[in-house]
Amino acid sequence: MNNERSHELFARAQRTLVGGVNSPVRAFRSVGGNPVYMTAGEGAWMTDADGNRYLDYVGSWGPLIVGHSHPAVVAALHEAIARGTSFGTCSAPEVELAEKVKEFFPSLEKIRFVNSGTEATMGAIRLARGATGCDKIVKFAGCYHGHGDAFLVKAGSGALTFGAPDSAGVPASVAQETLTARFNDLPNVAELFDNNAGRIAAVIVEPVVGNMGVVPPAPDFLAGLRQLCDAHGALLIFDEVMTGFRVARGGAQALYGVRPDLTTLGKIIGGGLPVGAFGGLAKIMDLLSPLGPVYQAGTLSGNPLAMAAGLATLKLLTPDLYAALEAKSARLADGLARAAAAAGVAAQVNRVGSMLTLFFTDRAVTDLESAQTTDTKRFAAFFREMLDAGVYLPPSNYEAWFVSAAHSDDDIEVTIRAAERALRGVYQAQL
Ligand code: PMP
Repeated sequence: MNNERSHELFARAQRTLVGGVNSPVRAFRSVGGNPVYMTAGEGAWMTDADGNRYLDYVGSWGPLIVGHSHPAVVAALHEAIARGTSFGTCSAPEVELAEKVKEFFPSLEKIRFVNSGTEATMGAIRLARGATGCDKIVKFAGCYHGHGDAFLVKAGSGALTFGAPDSAGVPASVAQETLTARFNDLPNVAELFDNNAGRIAAVIVEPVVGNMGVVPPAPDFLAGLRQLCDAHGALLIFDEVMTGFRVARGGAQALYGVRPDLTTLGKIIGGGLPVGAFGGLAKIMDLLSPLGPVYQAGTLSGNPLAMAAGLATLKLLTPDLYAALEAKSARLADGLARAAAAAGVAAQVNRVGSMLTLFFTDRAVTDLESAQTTDTKRFAAFFREMLDAGVYLPPSNYEAWFVSAAHSDDDIEVTIRAAERALRGVYQAQL
């Protein structure tokens, strides 16, 4: 595959952008080689600067559940842009999107829109602290909640990929307010509550983890967190930036039937434009400025283009779409597991709905410790073989792959065939 233009662009980028990128995992450091520069996306496919085409399982890291450049989303954007790009005032689309979100997520009695998942989680935590008068939060090792100081403690995603789950530059005084528990380990959470009685504002969790690769919650784990939070007067925050509208239309809270106090959203609600949101119980949300004492604001929050793209995307999310996504994703996961077994490669495929990860390990992956038994060198070799075959996977083993409604049955078959060849190659390679 010729990647000359991409190589040139990356060489240029490294002279002006830090590491050549604006988000670390894009640099391909854990999988080797240079990043590929994309110029266009259509449906399940992306085209790079050299004209190569790839079947895309990143989907802009989750937002593109209906695929690239869906005609309804593009039309909504054209219509919105003709009326103006930003007003910095109130506008109708933010009201419409809020109503639509609430229709799918009834636990979000009141909502605040922001511009990214990071902003959503930062806002939610400040609100939880303001509401409870407590400073400490509990998070889970390997979960990623954006790059806010409080969350860069045993963080997943890029922080984990680069071996920096605890970032430099986070004041010790801030980090010490973040308590870390093992995912899927309720006794561990109970112990933290016992040792920090009356000091915990909230437990924040990715209800299905995507950021150490996909790790589903054990049965009753989420319900157990709900009970512990109730018993100790702490708020339960579901970070559904990735899982919202993804694992089900109503997110993980609908799928598992557990109602959090606060929810953070991002990715799909922006339809590919920069949007985040947090919301929950009205009596807590009403503590936010201008009604209450917890401050939060944003120049571009509720931006009409972002609201239009989000609204157009949410309108496409029918029960039929989820049924088709489930069937395609199950077929892909089964095909990958069979391909690994046939090639003699130890592997686990974790999947919830259209999020999945192929881990190179013989252990069940249920938490960070087991996720880290994955053979990242083997993944890197697999990634490169797949890229060469025209299948674009997340460039780290600690990430979720996303199937979109635009992936056809043929696309899934092509992917499985490519994986069969790649896994045979990975097995034979001297790693
Ligand atoms: N929370 C979760 C669960 C995420 O997956 C992410 C991003 N991958 C974030 C928060 C942060 O979102 P953003 O990158 O939009 O700031």
